[in-house]
Amino acid sequence: MKKVLLIVGLIILVVITAGGIYFWKSYQDFMKVETISYDPQLTIYLGGGNSIVLTSEDGASALIVDTKMKGAAQILKNQVKAKDITIVNTHDHFDHVGGNALYPRAKIIAGEYRKEQWDEDSGKTSRYPDVTLKSGEEKMMKIGSETVHIFNTGRAHTWNDVVVYLENRKLLVTGDLIFNHWHPALLAKSGTQVSSWINALATLANKYEAKTIIPGHGPVGDQRTLAEMKNYFVSISDSIGNEEKQTALKEKYASYITVPGMFSFNNTLKFIEQEKINKKD
Ligand SMILES: [Zn+2]
Repeated sequence: MKKVLLIVGLIILVVITAGGIYFWKSYQDFMKVETISYDPQLTIYLGGGNSIVLTSEDGASALIVDTKMKGAAQILKNQVKAKDITIVNTHDHFDHVGGNALYPRAKIIAGEYRKEQWDEDSGKTSRYPDVTLKSGEEKMMKIGSETVHIFNTGRAHTWNDVVVYLENRKLLVTGDLIFNHWHPALLAKSGTQVSSWINALATLANKYEAKTIIPGHGPVGDQRTLAEMKNYFVSISDSIGNEEKQTALKEKYASYITVPGMFSFNNTLKFIEQEKINKKD
């Protein structure tokens, strides 16, 4: 009997340790920052919630889109030398706003969120924005010779999401409106609504001539990336009630990054199913 208990105990220990290592490794991968020098003024920082830093030619001013979290936020902060800093937060999730407090003098621009919602989604560590844009509102600014569009797409991944378009470079920073070759994070309590998310992606495809896409998570994309994300949602929505279609789609998206129970094909399917049920009520 004792022997059996000992073996069961050992098995439990191994499973817990393996689970712990798996999550620790996933977290390390998630937080790893990869730096891409796009041109002398623009640097892309992938990882922990993707970011960009655009600096004026004279080095005096900079635009940061999303400030990452924890160690990744500090790595980003160490790279920014400009004195006059504007931050755009694409949305209020902690992996995109967790570094806001590291820039006490920066001006922070984001969409509209109730303070309680902001605090809940950002993990209470983040500075609330100084300027908020309404749904559908677009603000323009100059960083050196670049014209920057800051646009609130309305409800999609959260209650409202903001994108940044660099006009000269034809480069669009989408935040979590795009998970590039990842299954997306869908969070009802943050306001996620797939039906309006699809509309937001269609609006962006018409509004801007983006050649380069910086997604919220995953690698740098191109012209096809907006359509791919839209097709992902449209095709899964269309597959509701059709198991054959679902099996084919599950196969099609098998290579997408998954976090079991959080970001996965089944999770997306369940979320869209529930959204359809809620709409009927
Ligand atoms: Zn997010």
